[in-house]
Amino acid sequence: MTERSWLFTDGSSIPVGTMYCIGRNYAAHAIEMGAPVVDDPIVFIKPPSAYLPHTSDIVLPAFSQDVHHEVELVVVIGSDVDACDVSSAWNAVAGVGVGLDLTARDIQSVAKSKGHPWSLAKSWKGSAPVSPIIPTSDCGRGPWQLGLHVNDELRQHGSTADMERSVDQLISFVSGIFSLRRGDCIFTGTPQGVGPLHSGDVVRATLDGSSLLAMTCR
Ligand code: MG
Repeated sequence: MTERSWLFTDGSSIPVGTMYCIGRNYAAHAIEMGAPVVDDPIVFIKPPSAYLPHTSDIVLPAFSQDVHHEVELVVVIGSDVDACDVSSAWNAVAGVGVGLDLTARDIQSVAKSKGHPWSLAKSWKGSAPVSPIIPTSDCGRGPWQLGLHVNDELRQHGSTADMERSVDQLISFVSGIFSLRRGDCIFTGTPQGVGPLHSGDVVRATLDGSSLLAMTCR
């Protein structure tokens, strides 16, 4: 049975809940997708079955010919929170890691053209690989530097300082609409440089220069 717990660097774990994912949170990525930054955050959801621990291989789904990497800061929630203020939002955080919002871009393009939801493009099993989680006692308050290498070639890099909405603002917003529960997480959006993955590729994601995730595609 697939392990579905956040694995913290201090050895603790929390069962994975709902994954709330933010779209177009970096202006440069919105521009590369030919889309405007929006006033309210774009939010979509991945179920716990989308979670993939960093010790697994990435299985590219047969229904897509164009799966893209999107490296993102992942914020794991440690306590239930409902409609919190921005000023108290950080109190709900258990830790941060780096994850991949794997996206079937060909399927998403069709969905966008028809005005359909993104679930088939974004939320399939294994579409959310995530690194070990660094607890708040060790991860600081940011900004954090994100990096993504494919076969040791740097494809994406960015700073969470460039996010349109901060971690604290996102927690406040998402908790007000959905509430947040212990074990939920927020994928905070991707910087520019997204691109395709192929079978045999080795994907490595870094947080502040440390390699926290290295996975092979098949
Ligand atoms: Mg994304």
